[in-house]
Amino acid sequence: MNRVPATKPPPPKAPVRKEKAPPVVPDLINDKDRGTQYEKGRFLGKGGFAHCYELRNKSTGEIMAGKVVPKTMLVKQYQRDKMTQEVQIHRELCHPNIVKVFHFFEDPLNVYITLELCARRSLMELHKRRKAVTEPEARYFTYQVVEGVLYLHNLKIIHRDMKLGNLFLNNDLVVKIGDFGLATTVEGDERKKTLCGTPNYIAPEVLNKCGHSFEVDIWAVGCILYILLFGQPPFESKSLEETYSRIRHNNYTIPANASQPAASLIRKMLDPVPMRRPTAKEVHRDIFFRTGFMPTRLPVSCLTMVPKFG
Ligand code: ADP
Repeated sequence: MNRVPATKPPPPKAPVRKEKAPPVVPDLINDKDRGTQYEKGRFLGKGGFAHCYELRNKSTGEIMAGKVVPKTMLVKQYQRDKMTQEVQIHRELCHPNIVKVFHFFEDPLNVYITLELCARRSLMELHKRRKAVTEPEARYFTYQVVEGVLYLHNLKIIHRDMKLGNLFLNNDLVVKIGDFGLATTVEGDERKKTLCGTPNYIAPEVLNKCGHSFEVDIWAVGCILYILLFGQPPFESKSLEETYSRIRHNNYTIPANASQPAASLIRKMLDPVPMRRPTAKEVHRDIFFRTGFMPTRLPVSCLTMVPKFG
């Protein structure tokens, strides 16, 4: 008699790592509504939601970035709402310092957003390579960030997640603000009560849940200028708890070698009281951007090396 081999007991369950599988992306992507075909190019990076690839428009040859979100990530209504909200805000924007959104379409597998290509990655990679940059470079990058923020605030939009990784760079090292996943519009003098997500440079009023508005972007720009100049975030510590405690107590120091205009602007933007922080318009005309050298452009070599000015 043939013995049926005894089935082995199942192995103990290994802990399941919640690593996202990359989306299945065809080599030729079809935007049916517009009759456009794109060739998928190199992988550019991934975020919490999306994987991003270089795309080439087959008929015009134009190269752009394509954000791909698998439909399996958009099953729940709140996930779809978040994506629609992000695209709705972002697609209306047109400014040299904001990543341009071209189109939004889907195929049976994925949702696609075509975007202006930022081929030189972001200020995060620059920071990792260079740590502190020179004051003229910090002035150059921050001024462009402020121009973008001023445009957004004039349209009553708060970005709410300004951070080095969301400040993209094109081939000419022009800064482009991207990732509008936490952005919102403000009506009148409304204070926002909730924020779904964790902004990187979180302002004290968000931590304390006492209502927040445009001032959270100014706080984040203060953190960005600080990191560019001094090579590390102002409230950085070993644990998130300690960092939050430092933010709540406004516990940070400005290195003694900082220039007076830089130190003064950072102090104003990192004011613990949101109403006392300067508006985007006031930051834009601050003395820090009017004194000292402001390069009109930077060489690509500055992504890895200190540039020689003059
Ligand atoms: P998510 O919405 O999932 O957070 P992101 O907007 O952060 O996605 O994009 C994910 C990654 O894709 C980025 O970290 C970056 O590497 C790359 N990326 C996003 N937008 C562009 C772009 N316009 N040009 C080049 N790369 C981009």
